[in-house]
Amino acid sequence: MAPRKRVLLITAHPDDADVHAGGTVARWVEEGHEIHSAILTRGDKGHDDPSMTPRQVAVLREAEQRAAAEILGVRRVTFLDYEDGELAWAGPKLTEDLTRLVRAERPDIVFTHDPFAGAPGYREPQLHPDHRAVGVAALDAIYVRATGPLYYPAHAAEGLLPHRVGEILLIMSDHIDHIVDISASFDRKVQAVRAHVSQFGKRSDFEAFLRRWAERVGEPSGVPLAEGFKRLMRS
Ligand SMILES: [Zn+2]
Repeated sequence: MAPRKRVLLITAHPDDADVHAGGTVARWVEEGHEIHSAILTRGDKGHDDPSMTPRQVAVLREAEQRAAAEILGVRRVTFLDYEDGELAWAGPKLTEDLTRLVRAERPDIVFTHDPFAGAPGYREPQLHPDHRAVGVAALDAIYVRATGPLYYPAHAAEGLLPHRVGEILLIMSDHIDHIVDISASFDRKVQAVRAHVSQFGKRSDFEAFLRRWAERVGEPSGVPLAEGFKRLMRS
């Protein structure tokens, strides 16, 4: 990938991008590309201890996410302050916020959730309503709204001009057609995922799990360790 690209990650929760694209992010940072991460929620419902409050979980998970971003070399992490589990009802505000984000960040490449996931795989990560909601709103923002000056004309007064994203890589997809070799960055990915202690701290097997998964994705192409995406290109 050359020359230097601007890459934006748009995901629902802390850890989504690290688990599904952390190796690619670490590799691209190493290659000199600039990566920003926008996370819609702080994952404030993501804890099994009923004595924790969502506020406490949010603080914990934000700190874990910032530590993981530091490990991968992500330049900036922005939280958009939505509540965990509520994105499916966030409506037009979510789409406008993501349009504003795309116009402000002006990325060459966006990673986001596959909105059409859930069929035919029905795998658990794909069934999370926040993942689907972010995927739908992000593709709506990227394909239709961010490029059209008649959408949100007030943005122009803030200096936010239309922007066309050239490449979208969808995570958690059932329709992987693009892989990235993460053999050299896999260890960094493991460290970043490990930083999400509240999510993976009790799983002693998670490194082996991540390795087996990366081997499975790379195997058909003869790549030792890989991450896979559904890739959408725009001219
Ligand atoms: Zn998630």
